[in-house]
Amino acid sequence: MARLPNVRVGHPALRTPAGPLPPERLREPEVQQLIDDMVETMRDADGVGLAAPQVAVPWQLFVYEAVDPEDPGEGIPLRVLVNPMILPEGHELVYDWEGCLSIPDLRGLVPRHPAVRVRGLDRQGRPLDYLAEGFEARIVQHEFDHLNGVVFLDRMRDLHSLAFYDEWAEYLAETGAAARATRPE
Ligand SMILES: [Zn+2]
Repeated sequence: MARLPNVRVGHPALRTPAGPLPPERLREPEVQQLIDDMVETMRDADGVGLAAPQVAVPWQLFVYEAVDPEDPGEGIPLRVLVNPMILPEGHELVYDWEGCLSIPDLRGLVPRHPAVRVRGLDRQGRPLDYLAEGFEARIVQHEFDHLNGVVFLDRMRDLHSLAFYDEWAEYLAETGAAARATRPE
């Protein structure tokens, strides 16, 4: 496996809507390798999610995982989503901190739906249909945005909470929102 180069904001791949991944191509070893490499890249960066446009691949594909290294039995197990659609459940929004592997070192408060219905394909092309809630719902919405050329800065209501990581950890982490959303997506 290989760690893929992350692109950062300013790279056009992050602002270009991704196209569907033709499901028949999931049989190709190169595509399975890409998925493995995305998982490794996410883990190497200590992230909780990675979308294909973040490694300059213009496909509707993302991976996510939020397992506590100290307690691997807990948390959100690895998911691979191909050609996903999401549908919010309910109308309210909740704020929590987000970061992004494509916007290194910054954190900000982002409103998201607390639960979303997720439909798409897994890495074998089998249909998926499930409800993501809480932190998982936040990750899914963040990664889904990447497939549409949207980054978390676009979703902030205003930029007052925008902070570099060290300042965030010193002054903001304890204020109001859960501290768990500190790993980039
Ligand atoms: Zn991101």
